[in-house]
Amino acid sequence: MATDPVTSATATARPPVAAPPPPTVMNADAPQIDAADRKVAVHVQDFALYYGAFRAITDVTMDFHHQEITAIIGPSGCGKSTLLRSINRMNDLINGVHAEGDIMINGQSVYGPNTDTVELRKRVGMVFQRPNPFPMSIFDNVVYGPRLHGERDKRKLAEIAERSLRSAALWDEVKDILKQSGLSLSGGQQQRLCIARSIAVQPDVILMDEPASALDPISTLKVEDLMRELKAHYTIIIVTHNMQQAARISDMTAFMLGNTNAKDRSGRLIEYTRTSQLFTQPKDKRTEEYITGRFG
Ligand code: ADP
Repeated sequence: MATDPVTSATATARPPVAAPPPPTVMNADAPQIDAADRKVAVHVQDFALYYGAFRAITDVTMDFHHQEITAIIGPSGCGKSTLLRSINRMNDLINGVHAEGDIMINGQSVYGPNTDTVELRKRVGMVFQRPNPFPMSIFDNVVYGPRLHGERDKRKLAEIAERSLRSAALWDEVKDILKQSGLSLSGGQQQRLCIARSIAVQPDVILMDEPASALDPISTLKVEDLMRELKAHYTIIIVTHNMQQAARISDMTAFMLGNTNAKDRSGRLIEYTRTSQLFTQPKDKRTEEYITGRFG
């Protein structure tokens, strides 16, 4: 059969498909805490989490450090949110969940028999994908946690509200409308209000599950700026689908991946290192394939 000179010429001339470049690491030059001064805030040891009989994540051992932002990345379903929600035992609210291994926060066991989950969630705040202000005033949203934990002094509550809203870079925008409903704010402001609410109880750790994925680009950058400021005081752990975002804001990046075995699809930690290293010199081939967009 004669070959078509046009199509065969086109086929051989077609350049190989180039993989997109990995995301640019924006904070590679940011001052980093000396290794000796880094403080482990959250230690995860041989951790696995099951939804009923289904093991969603397994073999996770890693440290999250104080005054650092750690990003957890990986394809959908690999267990990023499961790991995040395991840190403050949010998964306990789901029927049939059980954990193996343990997580320590500043040396205290999260899964030990004596853990008080109300106290735990005070130490570990959480910000969700969709801003979820309570249907109450801006002021009442911010002081919700301190009131729940028994603070009644009006002057103290006012101080907490101002301090938290300032820390969340929202004070100037809302100081004259504190009695207005939190739901009346824009999406980006609502997310910063939720961040103010989570820091009002002075947690040690802030968990963020795709905190900017429902926001417009300008609000996203504001929330990212805010995270950079907050990391001076907190341990921040963020799940993000957005690799550019992980590269922009995080100090450390953890790459997770689900197993391909049909009988065991549980997510595992594949590579965990400095963000600058993970996005420029990944050690594992699977990390490289993921960050260059070859799957996921
Ligand atoms: P990711 O955040 O990486 O997208 P998830 O942690 O949400 O992944 O999910 C990991 C795995 O656990 C997925 O297979 C998901 O279907 C499963 N899973 C998540 N939540 C539940 C649940 N409440 N009940 C049962 N399975 C769940």
